[in-house]
Amino acid sequence: MAAITLQDIYAARSRIAGLARRTPLVPSPSLAGRLGGEVRLKLETLQDIGAFKIRGAANRILDLSPAERGRGVVTVSTGNHGRAVASAARAAGVRAVVCLSRLVPAFKVAAIEGLGAEVRVVGDSQDEAEVEAVRLVDAEDMVYVNPYDDRHVIAGQGTIGLELLEDYPALETAIVPLSGGGLIGGIALALKAAAPRVRVIGVSMERGAAMIESLRAGRPIQVPELPTLADSLGGGIGLDNRHTFALVRDLVDATVQVSEAEIAEAMRHAYREERLIVEGGGAVGIAAVLAGRIAGVGRTGIVLSGRNLDMDLFTRIVTGDPSALPA
Ligand SMILES: *Cc1c(COP(=O)(O)O)cnc(C)c1O
Repeated sequence: MAAITLQDIYAARSRIAGLARRTPLVPSPSLAGRLGGEVRLKLETLQDIGAFKIRGAANRILDLSPAERGRGVVTVSTGNHGRAVASAARAAGVRAVVCLSRLVPAFKVAAIEGLGAEVRVVGDSQDEAEVEAVRLVDAEDMVYVNPYDDRHVIAGQGTIGLELLEDYPALETAIVPLSGGGLIGGIALALKAAAPRVRVIGVSMERGAAMIESLRAGRPIQVPELPTLADSLGGGIGLDNRHTFALVRDLVDATVQVSEAEIAEAMRHAYREERLIVEGGGAVGIAAVLAGRIAGVGRTGIVLSGRNLDMDLFTRIVTGDPSALPA
């Protein structure tokens, strides 16, 4: 299996330019004060679908062969990848089916349907929803678009790494949300190839951090999926993981976990100090900084990966309502 290269990431960049935005990188004086260095925030929250995942999905779908386009695409998603696949498939004129577990919030289901995809809600976990997606691949000969463990998806997410370095050549540390590892894997590939000095730190929630548990075990393992404010970081990494486990193991310098209260505090901080709406999974980098889990990292870029969450829940979180935290 050929390695994913910087070339693949540049190719992704030209392929997705019409569907994914080049997002701003903005200074954060409030977090710089906490970290004792310069901090800039990469606002993937400003993609049209509200999250970075359009980059990988667009790279995959725009590079389908004519025959694959005719078969249509199917995927499984905690929400944001589903939105991205729906949006890119619609732009490319390709049929899309998105399989979701019952843990995914209803507003996310509605958003995917609104983008023109067919939605199937199946099972109580990401892994059960995946079984339905695999069935559709067999039964209806559809093309599966893996949310993270796919070369095109990883290369697409890696375009964030190119932008980070171009907009911040002095970057010393990148702090990136971590779930399946497509986001951090692509970013780490780009950064380590172009500027090996940059440290890459992955952040997950304490509950159900499949990649971090797998790194500890030395191989992909399954972990129970629990309700979390960082719902977009839920799900496993696949026991037959092909790309991201090795990428994260080999290229990511450190990993950090944050509690539900710390995620809520980060969302509050982003809103009150930075005037930003960030979903739980997108705010874990800020959470790690505020909780003091990251130190001595120099000029730092933090990826804010998405902003898709229920606004009633958001309001309860930013007003400090303790009932907003999952039990
Ligand atoms: C999917 C997602 C992530 C994690 O990306 P992986 O490639 O699975 O590691 C982080 N933040 C948001 C908002 C996401 O939707």
